[in-house]
Amino acid sequence: MPQSKRDYYEVLGVGRGAGESEIKKAYRKLAKQYHPDVNPGDKEAEAKFKEVSEAYEVLSDPQKRARYDQFGHAGVDPNGFGNAGAGFGGFDFGGFSDIFETFESFFGGTGFGRSSRSRTGPQKGADLKYSVEISFEEAAFGVEKEITVERHENCEKCEGSGSKPGTSPTVCTRCNGTGQIQNKHATPFGQFIDVRTCDMCRGEGKIIVDPCTGCGGMGKVRKKLKKTLKIPAGIDDGQIITSRGDGEPGVRGGPPGDLFVTVIVNPHPIFRRQGNDVVCEIPITFVQAALGAELEVPTLDGKVRYSIPEGTQTGSIFRLRNKGIPYLRGSGRGDQYVKVEIEVPKKLSDKQKELLREFAEISGDEVYEQRKGFFDKMKDALGM
Ligand SMILES: [Zn+2]
Ligand SMILES: [Zn+2]
Repeated sequence: MPQSKRDYYEVLGVGRGAGESEIKKAYRKLAKQYHPDVNPGDKEAEAKFKEVSEAYEVLSDPQKRARYDQFGHAGVDPNGFGNAGAGFGGFDFGGFSDIFETFESFFGGTGFGRSSRSRTGPQKGADLKYSVEISFEEAAFGVEKEITVERHENCEKCEGSGSKPGTSPTVCTRCNGTGQIQNKHATPFGQFIDVRTCDMCRGEGKIIVDPCTGCGGMGKVRKKLKKTLKIPAGIDDGQIITSRGDGEPGVRGGPPGDLFVTVIVNPHPIFRRQGNDVVCEIPITFVQAALGAELEVPTLDGKVRYSIPEGTQTGSIFRLRNKGIPYLRGSGRGDQYVKVEIEVPKKLSDKQKELLREFAEISGDEVYEQRKGFFDKMKDALGM
């Protein structure tokens, strides 16, 4: 099995109930973002692109999607069961024309003037990246955290125009308000037009004569704002919460960027997480192990009592059902595994030692099954 493949819905950032067009939209957006053509030589982008393509391959095919919904990755893995020989591992390159088509429209069609066109047109705002630290328990049960985000907002005084209220910018005379300057060139292949961003108005098409005093003509001011982040129960260390549209505002009417918050889960002094299970180790005494005992076991829900039987061996593992971490998707919880370890006392009084010697004398090796077995085997094997 490939190690911890990400959930395909998560990869595309859509809900489990997402419709065909939503999935397609999400895929196109991500494919554009990570396409090797836009990220030459970027291995991480390449890996992301493959991951996104793989997720789309499955979720865009109703049959594969149904299998995936039912069986997870195993249902669509070429080595897993239930795969009707779709040859999925090799990637179906046929679907790629789809991206190239959107690529064209993304960059404005013709090869010429690509960059200048995207500079003067509407632009999505920049994404913001933050992180938040939470405790093990908060990760298990979910929590609301307030984070302070610093970003640009439209200036209230001029409503983002950059011009002093009551005044308006003038149309740029160099580009006549288009924000672009065109140069015609004759080439052996015919005439083509080279489009540049106007350097006088920096592509805005207008020039602010009387700048707003609130923002100095920028139209935007930097603001700190508090944002309440809902962290769902079951989140794991390193997972990212996305808040769409909470990034920097868009430029020239473009959509705002997104806010990405990486969740850092602080380690717990007793518990460790394994998937959705919680693991802990409890030291017990030799006497408890030999006679059996009722242990107080810490769980995420508080202490519970758990009886270990007579003759419990060191390293034995007990399971407490449904005491683990809730599943991020769906319902239910993992389990808790408790490993007991016998602690041998290091400092004993004379009286204590005497009692132990007396115990050894009256029991001999007869009470130790494994030890007896070991010496029997040694005798057989070595004749000792
Ligand atoms: Zn201009
Ligand atoms: Zn202003």
